[in-house]
Amino acid sequence: MYFDIYEFTYKNFRSAVNNKVRSRSKTLPSGTTFVDMNKSGTINFKTESQTFPGTGLFWDQSIKLLDLPLVLVLKDPNLTPLDRVKLAITGDLAVTCNCPSLRYHGYAYILSQLDSKLGRKEKRFPVVRNPELSGVVCKHLDSALVTLPFHVNDLVAYIKDMI
Ligand SMILES: [Zn+2]
Repeated sequence: MYFDIYEFTYKNFRSAVNNKVRSRSKTLPSGTTFVDMNKSGTINFKTESQTFPGTGLFWDQSIKLLDLPLVLVLKDPNLTPLDRVKLAITGDLAVTCNCPSLRYHGYAYILSQLDSKLGRKEKRFPVVRNPELSGVVCKHLDSALVTLPFHVNDLVAYIKDMI
């Protein structure tokens, strides 16, 4: 199978999260909720703000399954919709979150450099907040990525119409 080292897969994301972010994402008060998946293969999650819990403030995370178009047209008759979803979520991903931390801590820049930033690219190097370019995503995206494999059946419901 074709493998592009410049794009980040699920495994890369899970191993590149910095430890500070990992310990914070584990303490998120109400965790992360699956919202939906659109026709372009972008999965939406929302996560309650940890800085202002209980205030109804949520941040939106989006994870785009870049390999989904390819996975949907694979001709193998033995591939079930669940198999296709599993292939797509372990393939290349592009992600974003609308929280301030993503830009402030330099993750938007790092993701842009990795060609894995969904939406607008960030060109400004995080000179002050993260000059060593540590980590890759905010705690909300880390939490969404941890949650993703638990929603394979939700995703099957969405892709059934696309095959
Ligand atoms: Zn975030």
